Amino acid sequence: MSASPFRVALLGEGVGASLTPAMHEQEGRLLGLDYHYDVVDVAGAATSDADLGRLLRDLRREGHRGVNVTHPFKQRVIAHLDRLDDDAARLGAVNLVRFTEAGATGHNTDWTGFRSSLRSAPGGPLEGGLATVLQVGAGGAGAATAYALLDLGASTLGVHDVDGERARALVERCAALFPAATVRVASADDALWASADGVVHATPVGMDHHPGPSFDPDRLRADAWVAEVVYRPLLTELVVRTRASGRRALDGSGMAAGQAVDSLRLLTGREPDAARVRAHLVELLARETAPGDARRVPGATARG
Ligand code: NAD
Repeated sequence: MSASPFRVALLGEGVGASLTPAMHEQEGRLLGLDYHYDVVDVAGAATSDADLGRLLRDLRREGHRGVNVTHPFKQRVIAHLDRLDDDAARLGAVNLVRFTEAGATGHNTDWTGFRSSLRSAPGGPLEGGLATVLQVGAGGAGAATAYALLDLGASTLGVHDVDGERARALVERCAALFPAATVRVASADDALWASADGVVHATPVGMDHHPGPSFDPDRLRADAWVAEVVYRPLLTELVVRTRASGRRALDGSGMAAGQAVDSLRLLTGREPDAARVRAHLVELLARETAPGDARRVPGATARG
């Protein structure tokens, strides 16, 4: 163990039950650090920009090396930083702030976490092809997954959201960032549902307060894959039904563990064991789910 504690924090609303602290602390310690991960759970709407700036300054003054930032601060935090890495600037969202002598730097490990989950999946999307992808959900998670899909080379991306304005805004942003790709809004009966290589699900549907899958996997091509972002519960109805239909489904643990791994690497300069972090997260998730019950523990949140 190193002499001085390595302190990191999570800042957001409703983050009390987050599993990110457990992932960081266990892996940080296995990397030989005296690693401490604090949770700062605030009422987002009541936190003014001045409060947010003060919270960040306080965390830095207390000796934290960095802060994972989550809902509702991923955009708002940007005004309080000295610089952003290129991808965070392009995405316009930050989930990790690193404090160094050079100042406060914003990063985004949500998109790299999702990219890692696609890259590491055996027989997953990269082997099955991701030329044509349909994404359901254009919110915070969807911004990160769309960026990762286009970075990985998707040439056609359709974005479907019940809120058409959100879909249009994400499409416009991605089309400007990836001009070689075709990025467009996809309707509820778009031809992409039946033709896409794969579908990314990035809405809260599947969590216990939003039951049911947001679409029927039987609508998809017989060899299409599905990548889920919801990870509490790990086995959402969408994942279960997609696998039962004979199609491949990635659960949301890869993205959640991947963002923690990438944050740990940026914070500590050491190489975390990605498979170990993922296995730890899956074990934590299994503990909160009763056998045969796909619902998550009441009160738990999936933030952070
Ligand atoms: P958000 O509220 O920012 O966005 C959700 C979007 O989904 C909204 O635009 C909404 O209009 C849309 N939507 C809701 N129901 C829909 C439906 N039936 N069909 C089409 N669109 C629909 O939420 P978010 O921050 O993007 O989070 C979404 C989910 O992703 C949450 O469950 C969250 O826990 C999860 N998440 C997982 C990870 C991970 O690491 N695996 C990371 C971030 C978020």
